[in-house]
Amino acid sequence: MLKWILAALLAVLSVTTYSFSINGSKWPGGATHLHVGIAGLSASGKAWSDALRRAAQEWTDKTPFDFTLINSYKDPCLGYRASATGSGFPSGTGDDFNGADFTSTVCGNEFGTNVLAVTLVYTESNQLGAFDITEADIAFNSNGRFDIYDGALDTSRGTDFTRVALHELGHVMGMGHEQNAASVMRASIGNIFTLQSDDIAGATTLYQGFTRCPVSRLDFGRITGSLAAGDCTVQQLVGGGTDTSLTDVYQLDLAQSTRVTFSMNSSTLDSVLVLMNDRSQVIEIDDDGGTACNSQIVRTLPAGTYAVLANTVTSTTGETPCGKVNGPYQLTARYESADLIGLSRSTSLQGGSSTASFAGGVTTNGGASYSNRVTPTQRFDVRGRISIDPAHRGLPGFLVTAAILENNQVYVRTPVGEFVPLGSQASPVPITTSKILNATESVTILGQAVASQFGMNDASVRFLIGYGLNSKPNELYFHEEPINLLITP
Ligand SMILES: [Zn+2]
Repeated sequence: MLKWILAALLAVLSVTTYSFSINGSKWPGGATHLHVGIAGLSASGKAWSDALRRAAQEWTDKTPFDFTLINSYKDPCLGYRASATGSGFPSGTGDDFNGADFTSTVCGNEFGTNVLAVTLVYTESNQLGAFDITEADIAFNSNGRFDIYDGALDTSRGTDFTRVALHELGHVMGMGHEQNAASVMRASIGNIFTLQSDDIAGATTLYQGFTRCPVSRLDFGRITGSLAAGDCTVQQLVGGGTDTSLTDVYQLDLAQSTRVTFSMNSSTLDSVLVLMNDRSQVIEIDDDGGTACNSQIVRTLPAGTYAVLANTVTSTTGETPCGKVNGPYQLTARYESADLIGLSRSTSLQGGSSTASFAGGVTTNGGASYSNRVTPTQRFDVRGRISIDPAHRGLPGFLVTAAILENNQVYVRTPVGEFVPLGSQASPVPITTSKILNATESVTILGQAVASQFGMNDASVRFLIGYGLNSKPNELYFHEEPINLLITP
């Protein structure tokens, strides 16, 4: 589906009562390019291309949106044709380049009375019920008189080009007219010549992405959640569109390229999983990739930050028993990796800083590969690795290993290799091993274990490893992202 938005900056005033206007149309990823190579100089000797460049740079500097500036020229009308009547708006599909120039018509159609410029925005619908902008071109009305200057409008000099460019670039980004607050995006031109807080708030709202909804952290393992009335909707998340389905939003940070499997299972919900990158671009959507109404996404993802949306459909499907749009679910995150995976969120008990880094994983094949999942009868190792802060290497210290069960009970590994409840050891920090610290410490958390022998047939356990120095017995350097062990039949 195609949709035109045509937005003109008028020299006439209109007043209503709402704030910045956006409808959810936006550039996927919050960025686009702009060809700024408009030829010529203003009457005051300044290059139009420099003014356009400055205007685009102001949006880039002050908002989450990024313009990549290209010095060459692109005809804004390439790929458009005038409508048959010569009035209304041109049609066509553009040329995939965002161009700008002075033109005597809007690509063959008349500029309206007092119209200083028109931005032609080309959009297509996306999978989340909103619109992606795919091209935007600016036609500045060459019948008008422009110059380049700051400050109050000076009709003796003509219209300041830069503030018109700022306004039109707002339309390029997907913003509508501001009707009330002082802003560049007001429909009529005035003495404002720089972006105002309302303009910046509008662009930020449009491009803040998945953080428009409350965001929880997703670590490997499994968690239970629930979709219920009052939760965030996809419509709120994308800032527009028609998708009112409920969604929980989870953020996952990957330290390295990792093959991941996300599963959303529910006995009541029609589960939908959405995977986005850190700029809220959809990577994949799955509805029924799992069994029944369950969903599943399997991908190899580069290192980076991702959003996983536990989502559903907009209305009850009638499928029984799992065609509902609210209810509890279980979200599982698994990985497969050739090496231990890096663990994020290094921290310490007393707030001391260190450059220590941590890695961990579960292996069923002696370290040939790692994942977080085992069956109850598989023999496995849980391994960790600590890169000790260079300032701590060669010093007497200690290693600590802890396990956290799904009921949040914490166990620590004793020097003889048993896990005992936290607090049952004498020292304030429970010591697993005392030693002179090497540059890299490899930690066997569990060796050749079989879950069913511990009576565990369906469980998720989180392990943490850390170290400290004998000179600071109450301080412990560790990581918040756990090493996960998922035991499922
Ligand atoms: Zn406008």
